[in-house]
Amino acid sequence: THLAQHDALTNLPNRLLLRDRVDQAIGHARRDGRQVALLFLDLDNFKTINDSLGHAAGDELLQEVARRLRETLSDIDTVSRQGGDEFLVALADVDDLAVVSSLAGRMQRRLAQPFTLKGMQLVTSISIGIALFPGDGEDFDTLLRHADMAMYEAKSAGRNTIRFFDRRMQEMLVARTLLEDDLRQAILNEEFLLYYQPQLTRSGHISGVEALVRWKHAQRGIVSPAEFIPLAEECGLILPLGAWVLKTACQQLTQWAAYPELAGLSIAVNVSASQLHQKTFVSDVLRELKQTGANPRNLKLELTESMLVNDVDTITAQMTELKAVGVSFSLDDFGTGYSSLSYLKRLPFDQLKIDQCFVKNIFTDPNDAAIAKMVVALGISMGLNVIAEGVEYEEQREYLSGIGCDNYQGYLFSKPLPLTEFEAFFVKSNNL
Ligand code: C2E
Ligand code: CA
Ligand code: CA
Repeated sequence: THLAQHDALTNLPNRLLLRDRVDQAIGHARRDGRQVALLFLDLDNFKTINDSLGHAAGDELLQEVARRLRETLSDIDTVSRQGGDEFLVALADVDDLAVVSSLAGRMQRRLAQPFTLKGMQLVTSISIGIALFPGDGEDFDTLLRHADMAMYEAKSAGRNTIRFFDRRMQEMLVARTLLEDDLRQAILNEEFLLYYQPQLTRSGHISGVEALVRWKHAQRGIVSPAEFIPLAEECGLILPLGAWVLKTACQQLTQWAAYPELAGLSIAVNVSASQLHQKTFVSDVLRELKQTGANPRNLKLELTESMLVNDVDTITAQMTELKAVGVSFSLDDFGTGYSSLSYLKRLPFDQLKIDQCFVKNIFTDPNDAAIAKMVVALGISMGLNVIAEGVEYEEQREYLSGIGCDNYQGYLFSKPLPLTEFEAFFVKSNNL
């Protein structure tokens, strides 16, 4: 019976026995209106120690950890080994959270004292995640899952840390997973649309558009990219989505090419960092241009500063190759990233796009006005075209025009529009 209920290496109760004890503690706590805490402990650097000093030393360390944990706890509490370098501690009869966190802190300090293994001194640390009955779960399995989640939070907050399970954290995780599944499905079903926002020159002529993706969600209607682009970037779905955007924009260019009035319009496409960092980025764009027959001179790619930090040489080479066939490049959100003039000088951009935050505060914040002025002057002196985005008022357009900015995009002229609405807007603007 003892063997079936204990871990052979440390002689601590195993999970089976722990589960029994937690079930019992939950029963008592329910009756007395008290709490039970389940702590999930994980050593921070066990693998390194095991790999460098060998398994025998690793085993010895685990035994010593078990001994120290046991010492810190009272008899009514249970410490058990889950396997590997993971331990679980159950605290019965808890009536105060402060007691739980101070005990967790005590275990951390005790383990932080140096160990002597094979005549060497070494130190280790533990990350601890905590879940409580009844607030965080009504049974052992739920508490275990939640303590485990909290432990992961503790690890990612930077080791040797304690984290209580937080229901909001779980809700966020669940919502995220649901959205991710939805998005994956949406990509398969091509539930996306491109909206087009006009870009105008000083004389009021529409020279092109920026393509902005929208998700046409069956239940939620049109979903903004601010909601799903960051998630798509995190889970890799930005690659198929970005490919769809590029294909659709190229097809649109080909359709417009059949009408003399529309044939000159350019489309600016937003490119994400992970797209640009694909080895096949250049060949993907070239293939799309070829397959759709779009005129490369009408395709503009928007990059942001933050994606240029690494590997300037590779990016320069990619840009140069695409520029050779006529594709142009715009530096989006300029002024908000790691602006380094030395990058700017090396990268063959055609256009700088002043970020909308500077435009927004042009009359209220003298610093923003100064930045806008500086960006325009910089662009002009480097022979680049300059465009301002987020232009909402005529006064802003006038100011920008006064400091030498020749191109504008923003609600003053039009919001991003679905295709047919954009075409109608274009026809009206040109008195066609
Ligand atoms: P962005 O590239 O900076 O796009 C400009 C955003 O500003 C757009 O928001 C646009 O609707 C909005 N905007 C335009 N004029 C005004 C104005 O006068 N006032 C204000 N307040 N806002 C204005 P949207 O369409 O929601 O797009 C948000 C972001 O999502 C984009 O920012 C871009 O980073 C990303 N995004 C959109 N489409 C794509 C895409 O196809 N691929 C990638 N990778 N990212 C995209
Ligand atoms: Ca953009
Ligand atoms: Ca922008």
